Amino acid sequence: MKCRHCKTELHHVFVDLVNCPPSNDMLKPDQLNEPEVFYPLKIFTCHNCLLVQVDEMRKADSIFNSEYTYFSSFSTSWLAHAKKYVDMMVERFRFNASSQVIEIASNDGYLLQYFKEYNIPVLGVDPTANTAEVAISKGIPTIVDFFGAGFAQKHLADKQIRADLILGNNVLAHVPDINDFVKGVKIALKDTGVVTFEFPHLMRLVEECQFDTIYHEHFSYLSFTVVKRIFENQGLEMFDVQELPTHGGSLRIFAKHTGDHSKEISPNVAALLKREEAAGMKNMNYYNDFQQRVEEIKYAVWEFLIKARRDGRKVIGYGAAAKGNTLLNYCGVKGTDLIQFAVDASPHKQNRYLPASHIPVRDLNSIAEYKPDYVIILPWNLKKEISEQLKYIRDWGGKFVTFIPELNII
Ligand SMILES: [Zn+2]
Repeated sequence: MKCRHCKTELHHVFVDLVNCPPSNDMLKPDQLNEPEVFYPLKIFTCHNCLLVQVDEMRKADSIFNSEYTYFSSFSTSWLAHAKKYVDMMVERFRFNASSQVIEIASNDGYLLQYFKEYNIPVLGVDPTANTAEVAISKGIPTIVDFFGAGFAQKHLADKQIRADLILGNNVLAHVPDINDFVKGVKIALKDTGVVTFEFPHLMRLVEECQFDTIYHEHFSYLSFTVVKRIFENQGLEMFDVQELPTHGGSLRIFAKHTGDHSKEISPNVAALLKREEAAGMKNMNYYNDFQQRVEEIKYAVWEFLIKARRDGRKVIGYGAAAKGNTLLNYCGVKGTDLIQFAVDASPHKQNRYLPASHIPVRDLNSIAEYKPDYVIILPWNLKKEISEQLKYIRDWGGKFVTFIPELNII
């Protein structure tokens, strides 16, 4: 197994979560009687370039299958985040009706719809057919395919389509061949174009032990230092970076062609590189005790759930998302004795079952009917929003629980 970026042989295990089913595959009732596929989930740190990455080569087209159930538009906070981004970008870079915006992993058009409101031409690229269909029905042109250098040449450059803005949220860490992907960005970008990508920040993952953000759909776990180097190798230069609260702490990077001198380099770039270095991210020691910290969380989950069961408490989970599946699967929680069911706002997930654990997913009304003593917030990054939305559980003495970075009962 060689590093995806620099091709050095990988030796150093960052964390071994043993194995996991594809985290976004919610099971239909008739699938409960069928065998489930588990893929190894072992993450390595490259000692040469420090890219943290998954070791297995599960083919991307089997992960993002046509049954992929994540529709971005079902998260109101994510929509608000997208709208705020679009307003900011239009204000800062003055995009207009003669600009071209291309979003990679455009999902159901949750973000491009806001550029469309400004009458800015948009194009989405997404490999998942059913979410792309929703985008197309909203009038957002979308190509159903994986993005990479070959795609950028054939579908964009050869057709004289080049972008004033290429953006991608939560896609950079999802691509198996990150070098080829960034090469494609270079090909599809106008001479004075802007690139932004958002991805979870590895520094926050390590500091807050967010091991449940590790799943098969993520091939890389990225620091700013490493991303900057990967982009530089393809002739793209960072000119700004912002830290965002999304997904437990993300980065939004701003890149341009290396030869484009029309944009100033923000002091944010040097400041973040310095902070990552000060945190120790350039040293292998930084990555070495993560496994042990993850195991401590597993024991805390067990202690909490077993005690709740022995005390006769009712426990449910909120949020049938990939994070929760990673946590429950790694901790070996299966069946409905410890967690009776999970709830999710998305109708695409209701009446299905979480992979591996087979915990049923119900609608939000089930909370008031069941009156649980504990609601485990599986997407802990949305703790504030969810606990506000479900504050009525206080009426019967219900409490919220999160496990990351440590057990917290509120
Ligand atoms: Zn490497």
